[in-house]
Amino acid sequence: MSRILPIATPAQVRAYARRLTLAYPRELTTALALHGLAAVAGLAAPRLLGDLVEAVRHHTSHWTVDEIAIAIAAFVVAQGLLMRFAVYASARLGEKVLARLREEFVDRVLELPLSTVERAGTGDLITRTSRDVDALARSVRHAVPETLIALVTGAFALGALVLVGPLTALPCLVGVPLLWGGTKWYLARARDGYLRENAAWGAVTAGLTETVEGARTVEALRLERRRVARTDADIAGAWAAERYTLGLRTVWFPIVEIGYVLPVVATLLAGGLLYTRGLASLAQVTAATLYVQQLIDPLDRLLSWIDELQVGGASLARLLGVADVRADRTAAGRRPAGELITVDGVRYSYREGHDVLHGVDLQLRQGERLAMVGPSGAGKSTLGRLVAGILRPRTGTVAVGGVPLVDLPLEELRGHVALVTQEHHVFKGTVRDNIVIARPEAPDTDVEKALGAVEAHWVADLPDGLDTQVGAGGLTLSPAQAQQLALARLVLADPHTLVLDEATSLLDPRAARHLERTLSAVLDGRTVVAIAHRLHTAHDADRVAVVEDGRITELGGHQELIAEDGSYAALWESWHGRPSARTVRGGPDRETR
Ligand code: ADP
Repeated sequence: MSRILPIATPAQVRAYARRLTLAYPRELTTALALHGLAAVAGLAAPRLLGDLVEAVRHHTSHWTVDEIAIAIAAFVVAQGLLMRFAVYASARLGEKVLARLREEFVDRVLELPLSTVERAGTGDLITRTSRDVDALARSVRHAVPETLIALVTGAFALGALVLVGPLTALPCLVGVPLLWGGTKWYLARARDGYLRENAAWGAVTAGLTETVEGARTVEALRLERRRVARTDADIAGAWAAERYTLGLRTVWFPIVEIGYVLPVVATLLAGGLLYTRGLASLAQVTAATLYVQQLIDPLDRLLSWIDELQVGGASLARLLGVADVRADRTAAGRRPAGELITVDGVRYSYREGHDVLHGVDLQLRQGERLAMVGPSGAGKSTLGRLVAGILRPRTGTVAVGGVPLVDLPLEELRGHVALVTQEHHVFKGTVRDNIVIARPEAPDTDVEKALGAVEAHWVADLPDGLDTQVGAGGLTLSPAQAQQLALARLVLADPHTLVLDEATSLLDPRAARHLERTLSAVLDGRTVVAIAHRLHTAHDADRVAVVEDGRITELGGHQELIAEDGSYAALWESWHGRPSARTVRGGPDRETR
């Protein structure tokens, strides 16, 4: 699944991170300046401690021990205060960056081509929107300010160390090869490791979502063991991926720890040697050792945040990757001349080399009701999604008024044709919110009219009416009510052409037929393509298209096809349980309606 949604390259991630960091120059300068001042205040103490040692030992200092002690205390307090404001400033910066990242990601997800969302499934996308956003938030919230602090403090400590005396500064270099080599080894492996870890969790999420969403199927087909095995395998994959990155850390961390201690020891030993040779004063050795000691903290932060930045970077790559999905439609800017939808020589394949539609031609007539029937897997839903402009034909065109559907901007497309499936999602919000999604500026009178049209009279009986909260945490709606909301949404959107794919299949046959009738009254004058799983829909339609093996094999009115005595007649006969000729003569029996 992760193959469908791409991952950004390291260069893209770096460029984006740079752009984001420099997006708030004022905030960045303030935070850096405050951290710089705090670092300077922090550097005074070791220097003064060096003086203190000299003062105690040789009484050569200009200051008394008490004065030096008070000065040290003053600097420590100043450092604390400055640090507080510095942390506050950088936390604010982090939050700003994060808010922007989130907004940009939401925009990106909403712009995803429909065909990609359909194919990618929800697991990967959910992991990206939840786990990856969280990982990145942690990274930005802490890693950005902490890295800033570490860089500034480290640079100042290093500068102070060199100022104390170049000779006493040299021994600390022994730590460099260890830290450099170890970190390089780690970084070379970490990115892929963390990417694999995230992908593995994506698989776990996808598997669990599937199992939960398909719980009934799982139960009915007794797939429990298999689903459990699949989840176990996914978790084992995630475990292996976690183990790998943990393995990396268990090698890298000890190396780094040794790399920290070694310079302190070296400075102390070499400093002692330099002192006995008269090449350095006791104050210099003391200050240098303390500065090296002070370097450990920023270095440690820097390196540990590199780790966190890797995790964040891997997540960022996955979030940015979403933007790399190539748009499946290009707004050509042409306006359709009319509302007639034509399907012309359309072939479509989900996998390369495996066409599921083999050259379909179809001319919808203005205001007609067309039913598509045929065996399962014949390609009806695929054709429906093509007619609704969700999928792009491999060859051939599906056009409205001469303009290919995939050349229309999404908002415009929805004014022409809409697809309704059996998934009726109730959005968290009020009843009104759920309906005006289709037309945000619609007045309440229109919303009420739409609800009336689908006979959703229960809304008027709700205590808060249109303001009643529904969806997660609000009033729970029955499937039938959810379906009515979805259909009301559609009535409000009022597209010229409508594709219904099992739109009423959740209802019992009588209710479904009733709803279809109501709907056809509401949608009078609109073209409706209904993928029919019950043949009464076909019977009620103006024309019936029989789809078999990726082709339209029969096309005509119910009576006409019955008279032709082909596939449809056979289908009707077996469904209706009586000879087709009698049905034609007597018409469908009225009592069953
Ligand atoms: P129908 O609606 O008539 O049952 P579909 O259009 O759903 O038929 O399916 C037509 C063919 O395309 C089937 O062979 C099915 O397995 C395949 N197919 C449908 N959806 C997908 C998909 N998302 N990915 C790959 N193959 C698919």
